[in-house]
Amino acid sequence: MIKIELSRAVKEIAKRKPKLVVVQIPEGLKTRTNEIIEKIEASGSECIVLMDPCFGACDLASDKAEKLGADLLVHFGHSKMYEGKNTLFFPLFYSIDSGKMVAQIGRLEEELDKRNLKNICLASTIQFRDHLKFIRESLGKKFKAHIGKGSSRIAEEGQVLGCNYSSFRNVNAECDAVVFIGDGLFHPLGFTFLTEKPIFHFNPLGGTIREFEDEREMFLRKRHGAIASVQNAKSFAILVSTKSGQMFKERAFELRKLIESKGKKAIILAMDYIMPEYLLGVEADAYVNTACPRIVIDDYSSFKKPILNPTELEIVLGVKKWEEFKLDELD
Ligand code: SF4
Repeated sequence: MIKIELSRAVKEIAKRKPKLVVVQIPEGLKTRTNEIIEKIEASGSECIVLMDPCFGACDLASDKAEKLGADLLVHFGHSKMYEGKNTLFFPLFYSIDSGKMVAQIGRLEEELDKRNLKNICLASTIQFRDHLKFIRESLGKKFKAHIGKGSSRIAEEGQVLGCNYSSFRNVNAECDAVVFIGDGLFHPLGFTFLTEKPIFHFNPLGGTIREFEDEREMFLRKRHGAIASVQNAKSFAILVSTKSGQMFKERAFELRKLIESKGKKAIILAMDYIMPEYLLGVEADAYVNTACPRIVIDDYSSFKKPILNPTELEIVLGVKKWEEFKLDELD
């Protein structure tokens, strides 16, 4: 079950006595929009909830809150990525029965024991933060769990984002395996480009623990095909997002210089959401995405032209070799 800290949020809001609060919520919380408004307004402030989709703290709605004349922005769903003016963050967490967790940790120990793995790096998304700590405390004495501190983009120890694995890098040398706690395949996939050590995907929601390996080959085949399809491209549209935590304009200019140095053409286009339909009519043989790297991975087939992340472009242009393929990270 997903936990929202609404009561704590209401108390924190009331302490600040704002006249107008603007609230940003992820898609999964939209069914609780009315309740959020009622509870905040009962504490004495006016409240407006933003309905634009929001996939991360990289998409903080500070500009929208300002336009609406809010005194306070409340962001539900994700942890702080960068300082926003008058902003409160309330990430969502999964709550899982501790008895079930203990049983699952027992199974994890068996898996690690079979392979004689003693030093493990624990990592998770923010929604599983509490389980990360619980697992560290519950693991038997023969195991040592390492939880790394990440870059400024990362709020909590051990947290990883689809675009940032710095917390892992800081403990990688001390570990002989990675245990990623979370749902979804994207994050464990990212680890496969950072280490050759065994990676275990521990999903407490489904109660599954398995070594993550097969998906990497399938994923690489798809990206290899995408890169091959761009080999003869003569013109590129480089895409920049205007979302504060995804805007890498300088990177776009560097990539344009690189493309032009190879005798090809490049233009730079900016938009809030990088949406395939916004690009209809633009003349370019391929797109290069400088925003969230997941756009390319998750939405590739929705685009009418091939879309690459920066490392993939560098492979196309011969600056990097295919063996150097990795998922791009943001900082
Ligand atoms: S992976 Fe994408 S959506 Fe998630 S934090 Fe990074 S840029 Fe934002």
